[in-house]
Amino acid sequence: MDRTLIKFSHCDKDIYRFSDHNICEEPDAQSTHAFESKLRLLRCPVCFERLRFNLLEAPVSIPCPFKNGHNVPCAFNIGSMYGPLHISEYDESELHIGITNSKGVVYNYTLTGIRRDESGWEKCVSVPLVQSDRYSLKELWDSELEKFSLLASWAPQRFYEEREFGSRCYAFALTFINHMRATEGKL
Ligand SMILES: [Zn+2]
Repeated sequence: MDRTLIKFSHCDKDIYRFSDHNICEEPDAQSTHAFESKLRLLRCPVCFERLRFNLLEAPVSIPCPFKNGHNVPCAFNIGSMYGPLHISEYDESELHIGITNSKGVVYNYTLTGIRRDESGWEKCVSVPLVQSDRYSLKELWDSELEKFSLLASWAPQRFYEEREFGSRCYAFALTFINHMRATEGKL
């Protein structure tokens, strides 16, 4: 969670690495403990040349995009069923979407129906949807989310059904957000 993402340019590409990523280090880098000398030994993962930067191309650090979804109330969460390492375009694991209530419980639609997860979303992309000082809206959010998850639409056997906003976990989350927008408009 506290890993820093570093971006630099080399080989006409933008390259992103975690600061503690050591694939490109020389084998003997472990023996030198100074971070600076480690940095000097870093190689570009594309051309394997040692990295040297002038001021303009110096690496910049990017805040980690992953948050603990259970700490972000009333949010839209993007994660993976198989953990954050699987949030990528390379493997078969699909992204999974969930909505947190104000207590950090993540409601998500799966093949077994609606799940209320109190753990498992520790590393995901979380987009908060309700301002923290809107207490009455947060209360309404929780009661509506609970009611909404009990609807027959989210039965396990209807998991693959196509709906207004696609299917599966995505349909559940987006339909709920739309429902809340409509409900809030009536307040
Ligand atoms: Zn390079």
